[in-house]
Amino acid sequence: MYSTIDLHAHSTASDGTLSPAALMRAAAASGIRVMALTDHDTLDGLEEAGAEAARLGLTFVPGIELSVTWNGATVHVVGLGVRRDCPDLNQGLQALHEFRVWRAEEMGRRLEKAGIAGAYEGALALSNGKLISRTHFARFLVDAGHADSVQAVFRKFLVQGKPGYVPGQWVDLEQGLGWLHAAGGQAVIAHPARYKLKRGRLRRLIGEFRELGGEAIEVVSGSHSRDEYFTMARHARDFGLMASAGSDFHGPEHPWLALGRLPQLPDGCRPIWEDWPLAA
Ligand code: AMP
Ligand code: MN
Ligand code: MN
Ligand code: MN
Repeated sequence: MYSTIDLHAHSTASDGTLSPAALMRAAAASGIRVMALTDHDTLDGLEEAGAEAARLGLTFVPGIELSVTWNGATVHVVGLGVRRDCPDLNQGLQALHEFRVWRAEEMGRRLEKAGIAGAYEGALALSNGKLISRTHFARFLVDAGHADSVQAVFRKFLVQGKPGYVPGQWVDLEQGLGWLHAAGGQAVIAHPARYKLKRGRLRRLIGEFRELGGEAIEVVSGSHSRDEYFTMARHARDFGLMASAGSDFHGPEHPWLALGRLPQLPDGCRPIWEDWPLAA
C-alpha cells in the first residue's frame, strides 16, 4: 500500500514544473489525501495551492524548504504548517532571495568565462519571474545542448569544483529553525541521506537540530533507497525525533520521483502528522 501523505514537493514558485494548482490536481489524481507544498525559500505558491486543494477536498499542508548552511555544507530544512504572514520568516526569505539573485548573476559570469554564453538570461527566463535556482540553469544548459540531462549538467557544471559553482552562505541552522518556529511551523531535516555526510557528522547535524528544537527528519524520501529508510528511521528513534515522508516531486519530467508512490513509514517511527487534525 502506498502512502496517501506527501509532505515535500515543488511547484513553479521555485524549481518545479507544475503550477501550484496543477501540482494539487496531480496529487489528488495519484491518490494522495494529504499534500504539502514546500518550495525552496519561498511561500509564493501557498495561496494558490491551498485554494485548489480545498476545491479538490485534499488536506493541504503549507510548507517551505529552507536552504541552510551548516558547517560549510548546504542542508535543506522543510518547514510544515507555516503561516504566510510571519515577519521574521518573510524578512529572512527576502535576504535569501537577494543572495540567490547575486549568485545567479555570478554563475552567469563564471559560465561565460567557461565558454557558455547567455546562461543567466536563459535561466532567468525559465524561472519566469519567480525564485531562480540552479535547476533553471541546468534546464537551460540541457536545452542549449551542453549536456544530455539535468543530472549531467549538475555533475559537469554546477557542483563544487565545477565552473558554474558559486559558494555562499544560506541561513544558519539556529536562525533558520527560528524563522520556521516563529511562523508556527515544524522543522524537518529534508532527505538526510542526500548530503553524503559520514555517519558521525550526520549524527552531529541531527543532534544539533534536536537541541535547537527541530521536530523530525525525513525518513521516507523520493531520493532515499529502501536501506536508507531504515537507517534514517533508526536515527530518528535514537534522537527522539518524529519521522516525515515526502516525494520531493519536481514535475512529471522527473519520473523517478513520482507522486503517489511513497511507501509507508517503517515500523516504530512516530509520524510527524500524529497530532495533526487531519481531515478523515
Ligand atoms: P539551489 O537551491 O538553487 O542551489 O538548487 C538546488 C536544487 O537543484 C535542488 O533542490 C534540486 O532540485 C536540484 N539539484 C541539486 N543537485 C542536483 C543533481 N545532482 N541532479 C539534479 N538536480 C539537482
Ligand atoms: Mn529543487
Ligand atoms: Mn532539497
Ligand atoms: Mn525539495
